[in-house]
Amino acid sequence: MNSEHIEKLVEVNDIKKHFQISKKGLFAGKAYVKAVDGVSFDIHKGEVLSLVGESGCGKSTTGRLLLKLLGATSGSVTFEGENITDLKERQMRPKRRHMQMIFQDPYQSLNPRMRVRDLVSEPLLVHEELDQNARYKRVEELLELVGLSKSGMGKFAHEFSGGQRQRIGIARAISVNPKLIVADEPVSALDVSVQSQVLNLLQDLQKEMGLTYLFISHNLSVVEHISDRIAVMYLGKIVEISTSSNLYTNPMHPYTKALFSAVPVPDPTIKHQRIILKGDIPSPVNPPSGCNFHTRCHECMDICKSDSPELKDIGNGHFVACHLHTTSSSQEVRIAYEDR
Ligand code: SF4
Repeated sequence: MNSEHIEKLVEVNDIKKHFQISKKGLFAGKAYVKAVDGVSFDIHKGEVLSLVGESGCGKSTTGRLLLKLLGATSGSVTFEGENITDLKERQMRPKRRHMQMIFQDPYQSLNPRMRVRDLVSEPLLVHEELDQNARYKRVEELLELVGLSKSGMGKFAHEFSGGQRQRIGIARAISVNPKLIVADEPVSALDVSVQSQVLNLLQDLQKEMGLTYLFISHNLSVVEHISDRIAVMYLGKIVEISTSSNLYTNPMHPYTKALFSAVPVPDPTIKHQRIILKGDIPSPVNPPSGCNFHTRCHECMDICKSDSPELKDIGNGHFVACHLHTTSSSQEVRIAYEDR
């Protein structure tokens, strides 16, 4: 995408979400889970931006903050140039039609007591003044668009397979012609054979309807073909953002390299060395000082334990938060590291 023609649909600026919890025992008192801890990124109009990282890194919370399904502790979200952070629910209502969500588990996200025609037409009921006939006519068109037969309109969600249920969830999300869809692990609950069908459907709909996606996934193999850009999250922060092709060929952050090293390569002639990360993800209640990845990083230096690296552009829209690449004297840091 030519940078001169990039139109930003969403701008997320230093957003944080800290959940208060109560600690019991010797150190009883209040504590905070820093689920999202200062995240900034843009989503360009018409692109697929994927947010990847291990479970619990704050991806889903970020998606919900963006849609204002959760209130932020601090920071801001701008949608189509308007700061929506402090809008009341009444003020958000007209915006909600443009910002829809597809959930991970289609079975849990669909009301089991509602028939498909009512599930899919529910957003139409809220956002458009259509009589019942017009609504159901639209549902027929939507079901056809997502590859389902209109004969299923009177059925309940449990009468469909997992892939079909996700298609119903997609039909519901696109029913009001949204501009942005946050898709939270939309294929991870599906069989592998069905995943690619749903991914293809999402791609086709994006082209046909000019949609913009924030695609959340823990699986790098899933996001490779659908993403224009990828943002990698670790422990509530973004550590790297780049175009999909660049990130797959030239990952810079040690965490991104470790994630990619775990992706199976179908060609046995390609030498592939797996990077095993030390230990578990630290607690977001008490994240490590400095670079919060330093306790697991095999390239950790002294500076990493005390100074938190900023997410900086290292050229061509490739952003990295790592002292090996982003300090003003990163060249000397790298040389010093390699000479150890
Ligand atoms: Fe590793 Fe240091 Fe870079 Fe963090 S800043 S990823 S600890 S090298």
